[in-house]
Order: sequence, then C-alpha cells, then structure tokens
Amino acid sequence: MAQLVYSSKINKIRSFALIMVFVGFAFMYGGILTKKIEWLMALFFIIGVLFIVFSCVVYFWIGLFSVRAVSIICPSCDKPTKMLGRVDACMHCDQPLTLDKDLEGKEFDEKYNKRKYQKKN
Ligand SMILES: [Zn+2]
Repeated sequence: MAQLVYSSKINKIRSFALIMVFVGFAFMYGGILTKKIEWLMALFFIIGVLFIVFSCVVYFWIGLFSVRAVSIICPSCDKPTKMLGRVDACMHCDQPLTLDKDLEGKEFDEKYNKRKYQKKN
C-alpha cells in the first residue's frame, strides 16, 4: 500500500503563498514582454500586483494561524513544531501528530479535523 505523506498545514499554506508570489511576478514579466501593447501591459501588471497582494494577505493569515496553533515538541525529531486542529503533521519531519488521546495510535486522517468528528459523544 502506498504510504501517504502529510505535510504540516502551516507549511502547505506557506508554499501556496510562495507560489502566488511567483505567479504574480510571472504576470509582471508578461507585462514587460507586452509593453508595446499598452492596455495588455497594464492588465498584466494589475493581475501581477493582485497576486502579490493576495499572497501578502495569505502570509498575514499564516501569522494569525500561528498564534492560534499549539506549540509542541515533536516526539519524533525533538524539534519544536506548531499544529493546527486535532491532527497535523510535524513541520520538520512530517510525523503525524494528534492532540487527542482517543486518536493516538490510529491511522492519521485529515477527516479528524472535520466538525463531524469533533464531538461524537
Ligand atoms: Zn518532527
């Protein structure tokens, strides 16, 4: 069976924001390439700026998330990591982690973060 690798949510959002920055720059570069057509250049630049602004918002959002996240020491690599929700993965070694004693030893599953599983009794 294929081993699923879960990466930390904060890391996921962070790489998403980074991709947004690159997409923004790609659009701006497109603007430079099309500078002969003024409206097209302006359009590319506006889209590029929007992407970069959006990634800034996402970075800010990560900041808010990090405050809410629980800081723990990973049992697997002994590094401090932050987790979001009931189950998450270590930011350094992708070790699945849980805050819930009931879920300890169970197969790591993103579904435990869904509301349906939050209060079962
Ligand atoms: Zn770890």
